[in-house]
Amino acid sequence: MNEIRHSTWGGRKQTSNGHLPPWFKVKIRQGPDYQEIRRIMTERGLHTICEEARCPNVWECWNNRTATFLILGDICTRRCHYCAVTTGRPNELDLDEPVRVADAVQALGLRHAVITSVNRDELEDGGAFLFAETIRQIRKKIPSCTVEVLIPDFQGQESALATVMDEQPDILNHNIETVPRLFPSIRPQGKYQRSLELLDRAKSMGALTKSGLMAGLGETFDELRDVMLDLRAVGCDILTLGQYLRPTKDHAPVARFYTPEEFQALKEEGLSFGFQHVESGPLVRSSYHAEQQVGRRDE
Ligand code: SF4
Repeated sequence: MNEIRHSTWGGRKQTSNGHLPPWFKVKIRQGPDYQEIRRIMTERGLHTICEEARCPNVWECWNNRTATFLILGDICTRRCHYCAVTTGRPNELDLDEPVRVADAVQALGLRHAVITSVNRDELEDGGAFLFAETIRQIRKKIPSCTVEVLIPDFQGQESALATVMDEQPDILNHNIETVPRLFPSIRPQGKYQRSLELLDRAKSMGALTKSGLMAGLGETFDELRDVMLDLRAVGCDILTLGQYLRPTKDHAPVARFYTPEEFQALKEEGLSFGFQHVESGPLVRSSYHAEQQVGRRDE
């Protein structure tokens, strides 16, 4: 029997009194499914964003046999001040990775696969071809599996987006992450307008689109609302909204903790703006409960 205990996300100190608010307590339970996911990934030399980004939901998701694959290596060419993924000179391209991802999807028995990547700005197409190949390999091996891709902005290259969209992913996800005022300090190599344009283009190519936003980086409620409205203006269908947590003391500090009630109020506003589905809560991350969002509409 594996250990069950509570964690305040690895005991990381987030507030001036050294603790996370009580609603961040998660159960650590390394059940058999958790262990199996780790084995399947390790044996195939694959990475997950669950581990690389130190996601607080890893115990819940992995125990439910849900994981998000990180392709194109585990080293990112950008340095965002909220993200725990390692930054630096990227690994050599692993062209066999899509086949191994598809193999892992089959071994895990996934009905919905979520694929994301680091930024690979040094590649001509930002790595879009590997996203496309991963979708193809999954569909070839498990035709019934739905595929969600959480893509970088590809530096605004329309052809890179088209490469991914040619494979008709079931959900095209691109996170806006924060409000425009905070982009220069939090996401310096990103551009708010460029991200909106990507979502707009994906929509015009027929995608079910999704985006994610972090709360707690120093934005105001009005700014969050404005971002939601901007996302709706480009037809974004699904929104995820979660609390920013500081991965290490070298990352941006948490400016504010939103309460579960505030997340609920933001969800209701989002739905009133016309999103089909809003996943909102302190522990919500981009791929949290992703399987439940394919083809779903909230009342
Ligand atoms: S929310 Fe997403 S990134 Fe976090 S553990 Fe679950 S699948 Fe992985």
